[in-house]
This record gives sequence, structure tokens and C-alpha cells, in this order.
Amino acid sequence: MVSDSELYSIWQRVLEKFQQKLDNHVFSVFFKDSYIYSIKGNAMFIVWNSKSTATLIENKYKNDVNEAINEVTGSYYQIKHITEEDLNNNSNLKLKEEDVFFKESSLYSQYTFDNFVMGISNKEAAQNSLIVASNPGVMYNPLFIYSDSGLGKTHLLHAIGNYVKESSPRTNILIITTEQFVDEYTKAARGEEDINKLKEFIKKVDILLIDDIQFLANKPKTEEFFFPIFNYFVSNNKQIVLTSDKKPQDLDGLDQRLVTRFSQGLSVNISKPDKDTCVNILKMKIEQEQLNLKFSEDSLSFIADNCSKSVRELEGSLTKILSYSITIKPTDSVDLDYAIQALKGLYGSGKSSVLTEERIIDEVAKYYNLTSQQILGHSQIKIISLARHLSMYLIKELMDLPYTKIGYIFGGKDHTTIMSACNKIEKMCKTDPQMWNVVNNLKDKLSAK
Ligand code: ADP
Ligand code: MG
Repeated sequence: MVSDSELYSIWQRVLEKFQQKLDNHVFSVFFKDSYIYSIKGNAMFIVWNSKSTATLIENKYKNDVNEAINEVTGSYYQIKHITEEDLNNNSNLKLKEEDVFFKESSLYSQYTFDNFVMGISNKEAAQNSLIVASNPGVMYNPLFIYSDSGLGKTHLLHAIGNYVKESSPRTNILIITTEQFVDEYTKAARGEEDINKLKEFIKKVDILLIDDIQFLANKPKTEEFFFPIFNYFVSNNKQIVLTSDKKPQDLDGLDQRLVTRFSQGLSVNISKPDKDTCVNILKMKIEQEQLNLKFSEDSLSFIADNCSKSVRELEGSLTKILSYSITIKPTDSVDLDYAIQALKGLYGSGKSSVLTEERIIDEVAKYYNLTSQQILGHSQIKIISLARHLSMYLIKELMDLPYTKIGYIFGGKDHTTIMSACNKIEKMCKTDPQMWNVVNNLKDKLSAK
């Protein structure tokens, strides 16, 4: 939950933008007394001072409001315009809330084409993503991007979404993980009416972007629900982009009809980046995250040489060096020796005593009998999401990384999500002695060298 004061401060900043843009009179007549009622997942409810204002905003200022909120928060929300009357009439509000599917879906504004470094390994995928983003529904449908983990699929999927959002803001984009799709289907499957509403909701979308479609395997009912939707999109020239850990033909447990459909567009692979690309990615990340650290060429070369698996691993090395420079040995420049020292144990078999986010997540996972992957994933099962929030909190407390950085670690989550997770755990510690014990035990364990 985002706190009331955060909602207030977001809205004040949005209002400032309108105040600058609009005539004073217009501003005060329509924007007076407006406020954000709540943010639920990806849905934001804004209360306007009358029904006419809500209608006017919906017809005239909808895109401007969306854009202003995006500029302030860095996220795209599904915005619902409501009035005090709706709030008093609970059933009215409920109806509006129920109309929102995929409340958790969110376009990560930090994943763009601009900050995607191209090299031989990912050129085909990046170029075709850009082609599809600039001509949705025209060239290949679906575009199917596949690779091992940590090589940029999710990044490209969101880059497509952001590009379309920017070039034609009216396009209705739905970007979701396959887990979200399965969850939403499972929730709706309880009643025929809900299933139809969900189907209609998805059909209204102009571009459908689904991450990690391999998780559709062995879910025959969801596959059956998806099949006609998929066909509807393709036959209406509405773009679909899918990502997966394997090419369509190698997806086990998936309905053959879907496999055939998936292979009918264009499938592109991303392979592991070569050394030059790795160094370029490191330079870009250093610049983008405004790390106050200067890296020598040979230190970058060392990091690149030792990251054999993925770009996520490269990012992990940078985070480690950053945390080493904060918690162990302050510096503003990293040379080869410093990098070797900071990353000692990371590439070898020895266990590093350096506090890293991996160690924190590992310990939390061990405590709850989970795996780190579950904590880093999207499951909303109570215990997993508690472990996830606790990991975010401990990373903030012990490593003092910026919220945005922690958001990156958890797959590109918005900084407000991290902030509210940390607040939640802090509150729990005050009211729940068991939680207080858990947190302190973990803190002790992690601080011991
Ligand atoms: P995947 O979905 O394939 O597992 P992600 O898209 O989540 O991988 O990428 C993991 C991380 O690596 C992300 O933070 C992403 O921004 C970054 N990344 C991957 N490839 C590139 C690239 N070519 N340029 C910049 N960042 C990249
Ligand atoms: Mg991914």
C-alpha cells in the first residue's frame, strides 16, 4: 500500500504541472479538491470534484493526466476517474474496481531501446523489436524472443511498450507476465460472466506483450482460453510479442496448436554477449545509475572476463563493487586491484563475506524454506511475498542502496513498491514480536563476518 502522504505528494506534483500549463481559472474550476484516492496494484483511482469534471478529464485531459503521473512516478497506471459520489456509493466503486484486470501489470519506464546496448548477440532481437514497436501488427505476428535467463528479454519487451506509449500515447498496451495471465484467468474462471469480461478486456487491448510464456505449459485450461484470443489478435493485425526461455518448437507441455501459432511469426534468439558488448553494457549501467565511482578500463575488462553467464551477472558485479565501496572500503575510483578485492570469492568457490543482495535473499530464502528464485519471482503466495518484502527491507537497511536500485534487483519494480514494502516490514516489527525476532536474527546473521 502506498501511504496517504505519498499519494498526496504525488498528486501535488501532478497538479503543479497542470497549474503551469492551464489557465488559472480553468485549473481552479476543474482541478480544485481533486486527489488520489488509492493505488491498487497498477490501478490508480483519482477523485474529481464533480461528475462533469470526471467526464471532462476522461474526454479531454486523460492523456495529459496519464503523462503527468508517469513523469512524476516513473510508472504507467490504469487510471480510473471517480467522484465523491462513487466513494459514498460503495457498490459503484466496487464495480469500477472490478473492471480493472491485471492490476499488477506495469510498464517499467527504465527499460528502453536507448539504454539497451546492442552487440552481435542481441542485434537481431533488438532490431526486430524496434521494427515491431514502430509498425505494430504489420510485420511479424507474433514476435517471439527467446533466450537463457538474464539476457535482456524482459528489457526488450518493456522497451517495445515504452516506445509505442511514447510514439502513440492512445495505444492501449497490456504488458504482463504469464504468471499474471494465469492468475487472472484462474480468478475469473470462477464465473462465466467474469471470463467473458476478462476476454472482452483483453480484446480491447491494441498490443499484447507477454513475458515468459513458457509458464503456460501444462495449464490446459488457460491455454484453451488464450488460443482464441491469440487468433483474434493475429487476424485483426494487433501485435503480440512473447518472450520465452526456449524457442516455440522446444516448449514442452504446450498445446501443439499454440506451438504452431507461436512459430508463425518471427522467432529471434539472444545469445550471451561477447566481451566488447559486456564492457559497453557496464559503461552504460555506470553512467545510467550515476554511480559515483570511476572505473579503470582494466577493471571493466576484468569484470567482463569473469561474467560468463548473463547481463544480470554483470549487473550483480557492479552492485557488489558498489556495496563494497559503501560498507567495506570507501573509494571513488575502482582500479583492477580494487575490483579483484571487491569481487573476491564471487567468481571462485570461496564464500564471500561481503554483504550482497544475493546473500541477503539467500538467507531469507533459507529461513522460510524457499528458493531465491521464488523470492525474485512474481508469485503472490503470502509467504513468498512476505519473504520478498523482508528481503527488500533488509537490503535497504543493511546495504542502504537507493530504492530504485533495489527495484532493479527485483526485476525492475517501481521505487514506490520498494518503499511501501520497507514501510510494511518496519510497521510489522513494531506490532509483531515474532517478526521483530526474525528481522533481528537475520540482521545479526548477515552482519557477522
Ligand atoms: P531476461 O528477461 O532475459 O531474463 P532481463 O531483460 O531481465 O533478462 O535482463 C536482466 C538485466 O540485464 C536487466 O536489468 C536488463 O536491463 C539488463 N540487460 C540485459 N541486456 C542488456 C543490454 N543489451 N543492454 C543493457 N542492459 C541489458
Ligand atoms: Mg525476464
